Amino acid sequence: MSLNRRTFIKNTSLLLGYSLLPYPNLYASTSQKQLGVCLVGLGYYSTDLLAPALQLTKHCRLTGIVTGSPHKIPKWQKRYGIPDKNVYNYQNMGRIADNPDIDVIYIVLPTGLHAKYAIKAAHTGKHVWCEKPMARTATECQAIIDACTKNNVKLSIGYRMQHEPNTQQIIKWADTKPYGKIKNIIAEAGYYDSRSDHWKQNKALGGGAMYDMGVYPLNATRYVTGEEPIAVLKANHTTKRPKIYTEVDETTHFTLEFPSGAIANCKTSFGLGMNDLRVDCEKGSYSLSPFQAYGGIRGKASDGTLLNQRIPNQQAQQMDNDALAIMNDTPVMVPGEEGMKDIRIVEAIYKAARTGKKVMLQ
Ligand code: NAD
Repeated sequence: MSLNRRTFIKNTSLLLGYSLLPYPNLYASTSQKQLGVCLVGLGYYSTDLLAPALQLTKHCRLTGIVTGSPHKIPKWQKRYGIPDKNVYNYQNMGRIADNPDIDVIYIVLPTGLHAKYAIKAAHTGKHVWCEKPMARTATECQAIIDACTKNNVKLSIGYRMQHEPNTQQIIKWADTKPYGKIKNIIAEAGYYDSRSDHWKQNKALGGGAMYDMGVYPLNATRYVTGEEPIAVLKANHTTKRPKIYTEVDETTHFTLEFPSGAIANCKTSFGLGMNDLRVDCEKGSYSLSPFQAYGGIRGKASDGTLLNQRIPNQQAQQMDNDALAIMNDTPVMVPGEEGMKDIRIVEAIYKAARTGKKVMLQ
């Protein structure tokens, strides 16, 4: 079944009880310290997911915005009570350095712009959160890490699944191996994108299914095994809409080999809805389906063990965990190095598809 992302999130948001009315901040009246978060880029993810989630967080609140679209400003100011002094554009966002209302700058832009604006954000001296995929190249990822290190600020990448309890359960199984040695993994993530002129179809802006959705199966293979792949055994791109997907991949298949011998067969697409992770081991198997949906992750193992823990909101959970790491000065759960590991492999997957040859990673 093809899954339209907006329809899906709209339905799940209704299920979670969100409304279209202004959001009351449930924690605003408590004495709990909250970090001020500034969203950079007011597109789909900021509008539909992150800003609403920031009304549910314990440790953060939405205090600022950076946008290049002036017509969006009055609506955001009214809905979230953001004062004029906390509204920026891409040219003047460096001035956030002097704004005590803002502790964190969250980059929610097209992937090809992550490096430029995450580095700008780091230079303000504020902590940086950057959406997945971290950037287009490992070189860009390293530049973001270096800018954050130089400015002594924390950097977190928006891999929300690593904050999700059922995912955390199977991450633990990478160590404990209750079903024995992992033999095969199947991981697939995609949705039907009906747009024809969006940045996700533009190479310079970091488009392509592999970057956008492919990092979900890729990251899953790494957290499921607890290993780093040694090779991209094969990869290939296909498209059913060649007039739209002229620059970037619509669908990508890739196969990874891990040091333990585990093999992962993965797929990602802008042409097909899919959301499954299956792990076959020597003494059993387990799966999550869906494994990366906003509305909740579900799964089970071959011995009947259920993976069905619930959290109210994945984005709120992620931002609260990241805020606590800043407030307590502890390591973040998903640092820049983690995002960079995936992008290094994404580059190798594109190379394997281009050359038709196996690409070694270690
Ligand atoms: P979007 O196209 O809806 O929004 C992008 C925003 O960037 C828009 O407001 C647009 O005006 C702005 N922008 C600034 N300069 C631009 C330029 N030169 N070209 C195009 N847009 C420009 O995209 P989105 O779906 O909100 O994705 C933004 C980021 O969030 C991406 O990195 C994406 O991977 C990530 N994302 C993450 C999740 C998740 O579950 N973690 C989900 C969706 C998106």
